[in-house]
Amino acid sequence: MTEMMTPAMRQFYEAKQAYPDALIFFRMGDFYESFGEDAKTIAKELGITLTARGKDKTGEKMPLAGIPYHAIDTYLPRLINKGYKVAICEQLEDPKQAKGVVKRGVVRVVTPGTAIDSSMFSDASNNYLMAVAGREIGKSGKSEERGEKEMEFGISFLDISTGEFLTTQFTDSESFEKLLSELARMHPAECILPPSLYGNSELVAKLRDQTIVQEFAPEIYGPEEAGENLKAHFGVATLEGMGCEKLEFAVSSAWAALEYAKTTQMRDLAHINTLRTYSNTEFMVLDSITLRNLEIVKNVREGGDENSLYRTLNFTRTPMGSRILKKWLLKPLLSVENINLRLDAVEELTKIPLLRYDIRDWLSDVRDIERLVGRIVYGNASARDLVALKKSMDVVPSIRDCLLEKAGSEILKEIAEGLATFSELENLAEMIEKAIVDEPPITVRDGGMIKPGYNPELDELRDIASNSKKWIAVFQQKERERSGIKSLKIGYNKVFGYYIEVTHANSSQVPEDYIRKQTMSNAERFFTPELKEKESLILTANEKAVALEYEIFTELIQALSAHSRELQETAGRLGTLDVLADLAEVAENNNYTRPQLTEDCKILIRDGRHPVVESTVSGGFVPNDTEMDCKEHQFLLVTGPNMAGKSTYMRQTALIAIMAQAGSFVPASHTSIGMIDQVFTRIGAFDDLASGQSTFMVEMVELANILNNATPRSLVLLDEIGRGTSTYDGYSIAKAVVEFLHNRGKVGVRALFATHYHQLTALEDKLKRVKNYHIAVKEDGHELVFLRKIVPGATDKSYGIQVARLAGVPEKVIERANEILKELERENVFEETEDSENGKKRKSKASARYTQMMLFDPGSGSESSERVKGLSPVEAALKKINVDEMTPIEAMNKLHELKKLLG
Ligand code: ADP
Ligand code: MG
Repeated sequence: MTEMMTPAMRQFYEAKQAYPDALIFFRMGDFYESFGEDAKTIAKELGITLTARGKDKTGEKMPLAGIPYHAIDTYLPRLINKGYKVAICEQLEDPKQAKGVVKRGVVRVVTPGTAIDSSMFSDASNNYLMAVAGREIGKSGKSEERGEKEMEFGISFLDISTGEFLTTQFTDSESFEKLLSELARMHPAECILPPSLYGNSELVAKLRDQTIVQEFAPEIYGPEEAGENLKAHFGVATLEGMGCEKLEFAVSSAWAALEYAKTTQMRDLAHINTLRTYSNTEFMVLDSITLRNLEIVKNVREGGDENSLYRTLNFTRTPMGSRILKKWLLKPLLSVENINLRLDAVEELTKIPLLRYDIRDWLSDVRDIERLVGRIVYGNASARDLVALKKSMDVVPSIRDCLLEKAGSEILKEIAEGLATFSELENLAEMIEKAIVDEPPITVRDGGMIKPGYNPELDELRDIASNSKKWIAVFQQKERERSGIKSLKIGYNKVFGYYIEVTHANSSQVPEDYIRKQTMSNAERFFTPELKEKESLILTANEKAVALEYEIFTELIQALSAHSRELQETAGRLGTLDVLADLAEVAENNNYTRPQLTEDCKILIRDGRHPVVESTVSGGFVPNDTEMDCKEHQFLLVTGPNMAGKSTYMRQTALIAIMAQAGSFVPASHTSIGMIDQVFTRIGAFDDLASGQSTFMVEMVELANILNNATPRSLVLLDEIGRGTSTYDGYSIAKAVVEFLHNRGKVGVRALFATHYHQLTALEDKLKRVKNYHIAVKEDGHELVFLRKIVPGATDKSYGIQVARLAGVPEKVIERANEILKELERENVFEETEDSENGKKRKSKASARYTQMMLFDPGSGSESSERVKGLSPVEAALKKINVDEMTPIEAMNKLHELKKLLG
């Protein structure tokens, strides 16, 4: 069969066979082409034309889709972001020099997690590949109650573009939740699993919710061989220094990540030169729901970073700074000592503004060193990248010396001393300065990169070439005079070389010794032996010069690669410095103060503000206090009408704690935070229709997670729990939740609970660590004025009707609503539930009439003849309907009837 194919097609199918799960980008001259099924997929996904060529294996026309090679940066990311792998099959030799068909081969496979092309990710984020290894360790305890299998996991995250490489391992009963929370926090672009885990459909489904999941079966996955291979890669005798010697799953997952990176990139990844083991007991846990609800790095609405905490705090000057800031916010610390080290540095930078200004000014010149180094080691850096690197390196001595002289805080001193250990820095920068022109071209194969005076041989070759160009100009003048043809000109093109061009009109004047080369529509092209001779001189000199330039460039790249580790450490130090200076700058601009961190369980905030909302509200933000402890103020029940500011208040408390533990100053006049190990939130009733789960179900799943996992050191925010169901259900659940958290593990959990069930405030009398607060409003005649001030005590009503009036609901409706409310209050809807507290179960018909339950409640409703066993009349009527057979009009009529049934 293959005999029928052209040699190029055979190469294509060989590539396809070697990479069956990838789309093949097959280089043909100036295009990347794809054939067959791949072509159809590519055409569909990229919206480009599908054409056909020749015949394929079966003698059919072969579908073909192609993109210009220079447009790869536009098209490739679109395929990758949709989850495709793409194998790039390049021409491996110069077509001009090739005998027969040009040699081609796959040079790399691009996958979401192993992309190195800057078009595929943003500066402000890392592009992580996640690898998981692990096994089931049977069932036990709590996880068994929930019918879950207990797992042991090693997880690694690798960013090929920066060289960052992290690993961790979870072996306790919450390992599955921890894996998911790492997933949410790190936001990997791709996750690879070994076959054993790829078969775990629950795990795969959870991962697929958030990233692209691939099975990867490297030949080695055993911890011992994996460890040996990692050691070989890093050139170390033991992994002890990296902290994972004993963590077999961490080691296995790290090896899998590295191996996957190597097999897709097909080269040695020397810039990945260290592996850091972390333990998530170092960090405050923020699960995916909390990250979303508190809008730490993304907003809830459209997922961008606008209105996120990160955006509010991010005025960093370098891409490394943005990425590190994001990490700090996603992983607040748990050690008072380490947090204080950060705060000391921030404080110092607020107190010496000149130092901060200078540093931030210098940092503005620093480019993305991490990724530049990635490209250098990777072998796809351009001369422009070197210039960018050099500009970044140029400011380092100033920063270093300034810090060495002025900095007193430990972290700043460490940064300065660290920068000083890179002794070759200035030499390397000087080397680039001497060699590379200020504005080099994008390509590295066409010359024009190296400065004159750097290399004598190169200068000589350039001389020959440029002198010859002068010679050409003289030659043109001479030939014009000799032939008398004024329009005669000397031209050049790649295929035909130098030629003398004469228009047809002047052809009679062409001298005898001109030799015809090519005929054009309006002109004739010639050459002479003299021109031919010069041509070969120019061309060889040019060719040699370009080749020599590339050689010099490669030497520079090698010299820099040899220092990749120091360069990356420098990048990390500058990034950290950038974040510290940024936090100081933001603290100054926004009037933040230094928080105190303690090991007790108190949270004390004076004049706290919501860092994001304060910048968006018109008319000024009203500061509020928060006081929590484990004695009397452990559980704060916050009531108040809609729009009063309950949600804002609760979030601001959590955000201030997160900022404090991340090492930032905070929006308050005084703050003391007793270390928080995890923030849990259940805020608002988001409509999660997109994921196909009912809002209420989502709410309860999240609630279950909180109730199961909160510890006495956690902070729980519950906002309007129970809103998603009927009043009775909702109220009952809300109440049970308060009781449960209050009594959890003897000491209880610190929690803020906003609720519109103002009847819950009666709990203050029954549960000793519950305190009522409300957000004050003033009734001014019919109007409601929001004071935004939190005050002790409960509200006695929910003001929903006043809010409705504020919103512009017609006066008639408002009046009627007021009447109904009065009626309800007389009947006391909540009487029953309150009484059941004392064991007296009593059915209040009057109350039931007004609840949502009634609609489907078999016990209530009128004594209609329609009544079917145990069903309400409406349910019975609904049961009979065959929706499929109804016309829209019939459906409308039926709806009217149903409504009538309700009376
Ligand atoms: P609730 O949860 O009680 O319905 P929100 O917390 O959503 O109310 O607050 C409603 C709006 O009130 C917010 O969007 C914000 O604009 C404003 N707001 C909230 N708290 C304050 C405050 N302390 N100062 C000024 N405006 C506030
Ligand atoms: Mg709210």
